[in-house]
Amino acid sequence: MNPAALTLHDAGEKLRKHELSSQELTLAAFQRIGDTDDKIHAFITLCRDAAIEQAKQADERLKRGGNIPPLLGIPIALKDIFVTEGVLTTCGSKILGNFVSPYDGTAVKKLKERGAVIVGKANMDEFAMGSSTENSALAVTRNPWNLERVPGGSSGGSAAAVAADQCIAALGTDTGGSIRQPAACCGVVGLKPTYGCVSRYGVIAFASSMDQVGPLTKDVRDCALMLEAIAGHDPADSTSADRPVPRYSDALTGDVKGLRLGVPKEYFITGIAPEVEQAVHDAIRLLEKNGAVVEEISLPHTEYAVAVYYIVATAEASSNLARYDGMRFGHRAGGKDLLETYMLSREEGFGAEVKRRIMLGTYALSAGYYDAYYLKAQRVRALIKQDFDAAFQRCDAILTPTAPTTAFKIGEKTQDPLQMYLSDIYTISVNLAGLPALSLPCGFDGDGMPIGLQIIGKQFDEATILRLAYAYEQATEWHRRKPRIEV
Ligand code: GLN
Repeated sequence: MNPAALTLHDAGEKLRKHELSSQELTLAAFQRIGDTDDKIHAFITLCRDAAIEQAKQADERLKRGGNIPPLLGIPIALKDIFVTEGVLTTCGSKILGNFVSPYDGTAVKKLKERGAVIVGKANMDEFAMGSSTENSALAVTRNPWNLERVPGGSSGGSAAAVAADQCIAALGTDTGGSIRQPAACCGVVGLKPTYGCVSRYGVIAFASSMDQVGPLTKDVRDCALMLEAIAGHDPADSTSADRPVPRYSDALTGDVKGLRLGVPKEYFITGIAPEVEQAVHDAIRLLEKNGAVVEEISLPHTEYAVAVYYIVATAEASSNLARYDGMRFGHRAGGKDLLETYMLSREEGFGAEVKRRIMLGTYALSAGYYDAYYLKAQRVRALIKQDFDAAFQRCDAILTPTAPTTAFKIGEKTQDPLQMYLSDIYTISVNLAGLPALSLPCGFDGDGMPIGLQIIGKQFDEATILRLAYAYEQATEWHRRKPRIEV
């Protein structure tokens, strides 16, 4: 078996028992990348030399023994939104096409401190805007389960890399579904933690009131281990919560007895693929059989979530992206004066979706429209949050599909942004409310494409989500299936 196909916890065990070295594991990951990435295009940048050096150091630490952190020597991919010292960091955009970061963001620093091996930077939708990774200015990533399909987005490169065994685990970011939806499309586990759980310092900003960092992994235990490594307070991010990091892996008991699960009726509506609906219902029934108590609930403001999100997210993006002006970093066009240089740099540097959002967001924030759009959206956002507060009075977690369909065909939705926006109909409310949610595989459709189950939890109750996800995973075999990629 290719060692890069191992889970993080299995690989870690082999490393600690000296049955495998980090250098062997790292070389196996690069071998797999070499064999498959000309088809999948999960990576924008590879860090081969640095990774082999990190693996050597990990092997020395393993030889010394003592207290070995779970991530020591483990090959991990980073979405190209994480600034990474000395490494090209593009955010999927031409405007950062030559940007080499002078420092590591906090999540990356934490991975490195724990001895992880950084294999490279994964492809993504430009500035994390999209649901298919087709908005990347640098490459089109293909779904390892079917090369004609999208991997989901915006963390599509990270999800595809994990699914294709090009790395053991990856980091992504999720502003409206960008970890969970690609995880569902590629048949891996993806967790968006509570807003404030993981530091966003050194993560290129899209919509700052919703952006959150999280892991994409091969199973639920790996997800818990990754979260333990990256969570925690960071003085460099004023929105990061000052609370102790639980040992999430302790929550993996396999027991769901007595847990109260809410199933929101608004999530099973027209537009959902019948096979997705069936698989999610089967998953809920299985958890019920194992002792969970299932109840139908209502989240009445769900229908406004997509509209609210596309006001709030674009407004915040228009402000965050003002810094890309061709002066401080990134692409600079040759204009005849300062104004023309600003305008041309942005004209040449940003892709169509990013420009569309900057215009939408600027409009929503402009005098005269601010109250009608932005303020109103923020008010409805509060109602969406209250729906969840009320539901969590009665239940411990909420179960839904992650996305209404499985991965769609490349090119299918690029001409119709609204259709693309609807891919996130089930994931967006969670970001508006700042809640944690996880996607894990719960079946396959008739075309052999993976289906995702979403588990939404109370604020900072990642432990319950992981507990449920683990119990479901233990009772099923979906997570063991691997895509067959012709090499
Ligand atoms: N697909 C959504 C969007 O395009 C969510 C993106 C994200 O979570 N970064 O904005």
